[in-house]
Amino acid sequence: MLEKCLGAQRARRIHRTFRHCKVTILCLFLTVVVLRGTIGAGKFGTPEQDFIDIRDHFYSHKRAEAYRVLEEVQATSSSGADSSTTNYNAFDFYKILVDEEGDDEKHDPDEPYSLGAKISNWDEQRSRWLKENPNYPNFIKPNKPRVLLVTGSSPKPCENPVGDHYLLKSIKNKIDYCRLHGIEVFYNMALLDAEMAGFWAKLPLIRKLLLSHPEVEFLWWMDSDALFTDMSFEVPWKRYKDYNLVMHGGNEMVYDQKNWIGLNTGSFLLRNCQWSLDILDAWAPMGPKGKIREEAGKVLTRELKGRPVFEADDQSAMVYLLAKHKDKWGDKVYLENEYYLHGYWGILVDKYEEMIENHHPGLGDHRWPLVTHFVGCKPCGKFGDYPVERCLKQMDRAFNFGDNQILQIYGFTHKSLGSRRVKRTRQVKDELSLLHPGFRAVKVSSS
Ligand code: UDP
Ligand code: MN
Repeated sequence: MLEKCLGAQRARRIHRTFRHCKVTILCLFLTVVVLRGTIGAGKFGTPEQDFIDIRDHFYSHKRAEAYRVLEEVQATSSSGADSSTTNYNAFDFYKILVDEEGDDEKHDPDEPYSLGAKISNWDEQRSRWLKENPNYPNFIKPNKPRVLLVTGSSPKPCENPVGDHYLLKSIKNKIDYCRLHGIEVFYNMALLDAEMAGFWAKLPLIRKLLLSHPEVEFLWWMDSDALFTDMSFEVPWKRYKDYNLVMHGGNEMVYDQKNWIGLNTGSFLLRNCQWSLDILDAWAPMGPKGKIREEAGKVLTRELKGRPVFEADDQSAMVYLLAKHKDKWGDKVYLENEYYLHGYWGILVDKYEEMIENHHPGLGDHRWPLVTHFVGCKPCGKFGDYPVERCLKQMDRAFNFGDNQILQIYGFTHKSLGSRRVKRTRQVKDELSLLHPGFRAVKVSSS
């Protein structure tokens, strides 16, 4: 009929147009169905509601952003803030760092200094506590004592902002080691006794923690400028079963030479017992700042080998105490040098690449040091004893050297020892079972 009226060619063209229209309508229908499937049909599923929904779907993100900016503008204008008061870089933070010095209780210099009220029966008190609290055993398993790692830094921000960044790296490094070895961590920022500021601050703190945590068998003091560089080395606890104080050092250097670097007090272990409270009492008297510390410094410089002139420090005082009263303390002190409980950074940091090439973690000694201690770098202070650039670069290298052992468990590694950035490793390396260390395994009883 159509062909008759319009001619064959024209009729075919109309048919084709009609077919195209059908396909277009079908496509439109499918699009609406798909959109309704993904964003919902709207309240009543009407085309108008669909349109509103589609528009909202595309614009809601932008709208939320606009509202947020609007709210912020309103908030800042109502509090009168402008960019000069919201800019951290422009703020002089010493404004809120009110100097509170001067109102500390001073002790009478004629009275002998004491860390606290005399305690003489700590062993009895502690063993009674342990018996009454069987849920807090002082040994996690045979030859694995419960250990508390204690470290800290000054209550004030560092003298320069980068110092605080290195403190953060340092505590991250310690958290990693301690997590892998079932050790708890205490970070102290409070000056418990104003007399014992600086490197003496650890003494009143250690005493307080020993008395407050009878469940802790060994307290491990570690300086903030000391980093773990062997994440898998486990301290040979059994070796110290008859000792109460373990420091890195050498018998000859301490007892014969009275060398001021014969031992190091940047990383040491102290057993929770009466003997330890007693040695803390014997160690403390040179600590009070001011005249006492200065006068004691002169004695130490005179009596010890190689000591420069400066006020009394805790390390020299310990060498002096042990050398002078070896008979009283010597038999319970273990001076360790088979591995680096403390390792002087100067002799280690340039050898990390060599260590990686030839050795593996878990050795703890010169082949892969447990601890690298940045003695004299003072990253949190104003002045150190070494060039700042060398200190900071080498602290980064030591951090990354230790951190690689953590990252490798998860399939990553630092691009180089000097780089913050990381790359993927070909395979996940957990040869030392650091992901699931043995001490954490629990026996499942079959009932
Ligand atoms: N320290 C502290 N509070 C302070 C100052 C220092 O707890 O107010 C700690 C900190 O952990 C630091 C340690 O005391 O690492 C000893 O000082 P430092 O490491 O600077 O001495 P060095 O090892 O260079 O002789
Ligand atoms: Mn130190």
